[in-house]
Amino acid sequence: MTNRSVRDADVSGKRVFVRVDFNVPLDGATITDDTRIRAAIPTINLLTERGARIILCSHLGRPKGKVDEVFRLQPVAAHLSELLGRPVQMATDVIGPDAQKRSTELKDGDVLLLENVRFEAGEEKNDPELAKQLASLAHIYVNDAFGAAHRAHASTAGIAEHLPSYAGLLMDEEVSALQRLVTEPARPFVTILGGAKVSDKLGVIENLIPKVDALLIGGGMANTFLLAQGREIGTSLAEHDFMEKAKSLLSLAQERGVQISLPVDAIVAETMDAKGATVDIGSVGAGQAIFDIGPKTAEQFAAIISDAKTVFWNGPMGVFERPAFAAGTRAVAEAVAGSAAFTVVGGGDSVAAVEQMGVASKISHISTGGGASLEFVEGRELPGLVALEHGR
Ligand code: ADP
Ligand code: MG
Repeated sequence: MTNRSVRDADVSGKRVFVRVDFNVPLDGATITDDTRIRAAIPTINLLTERGARIILCSHLGRPKGKVDEVFRLQPVAAHLSELLGRPVQMATDVIGPDAQKRSTELKDGDVLLLENVRFEAGEEKNDPELAKQLASLAHIYVNDAFGAAHRAHASTAGIAEHLPSYAGLLMDEEVSALQRLVTEPARPFVTILGGAKVSDKLGVIENLIPKVDALLIGGGMANTFLLAQGREIGTSLAEHDFMEKAKSLLSLAQERGVQISLPVDAIVAETMDAKGATVDIGSVGAGQAIFDIGPKTAEQFAAIISDAKTVFWNGPMGVFERPAFAAGTRAVAEAVAGSAAFTVVGGGDSVAAVEQMGVASKISHISTGGGASLEFVEGRELPGLVALEHGR
């Protein structure tokens, strides 16, 4: 998949609409992880140097098509301005009078951030009218929002029909890194899955089984599989409705000769606030929940990771936000960082975990996309990339 790069665009004096992914975690107005904002800076700087008039567009959270004060992008504009060392204007609307006025008044090199595009009901519906209105703000479209590339929305897909369209530098970098996982990955190829979005990720496993040599499953994700094996998991997070699905995935893996490793021990507690205890799987009490993989599991996982030539990791091994349940995620993070393999970590919380463990610089590629990186590795076409290919 090759798209025209922003490097080849003639942008001087033109208004360039840049879809970025500034969907950062916020604690009130404080940005708790600015990875995604920093990742967009190379494209913004390139455009500024070339005298473009930059109109940035992003979503933040899930405001469901109407204005929600909690999801205003003002804190992002302020932080971006600090990172760039230059002013960043903030529009009070997306396609309304303020956005229109500010766009037309931009000078070469100026940067404007539109308000949260998901305040518009048409965004998630990929409404052609909204796409046209967004396009009318600019002369050129650049998509640098890899994290939103698995969505066919007005600002990630529809708009490309109306403007000359280019991939941003981050988009290019993500695609070339992730391509190494899809096209003839060096083997053994080990994928580690965890986290909390179990039902979202079960379909992923089905598509990954034919591609990988080993699948290590921890976090909340593992619990549904343990259930499928008839284990007692107490009050652990699990999706009982997906137990049959998990069973069939286990037998599919067996047929294909793919090793699926599940936890053999765990850190359990009655609540997340309680002290954890280490138990073997099989000895989880009815009133207990699994909040982390145990030390034997961590050791097994680390050994498999150290033999890998390609590693893809999405989803923490436990509730790593709590020190009592962070050891499993730390052990896996250190194993991935210490491995000589080509390593990729994707997913908002997974990236936050490797940052927290201080090993981010030792990962070959940190993806800004969670769902997008998973879908890419599954071999699915991403609507945001397809739109660029078919764009004007
Ligand atoms: P990502 O953002 O990397 O895609 P997810 O959003 O799927 O990952 O999952 C991350 C969350 O999963 C974390 O907040 C973590 O606390 C939670 N989690 C991991 N393991 C467990 C578990 N055993 N029980 C409950 N929550 C868990
Ligand atoms: Mg998450």
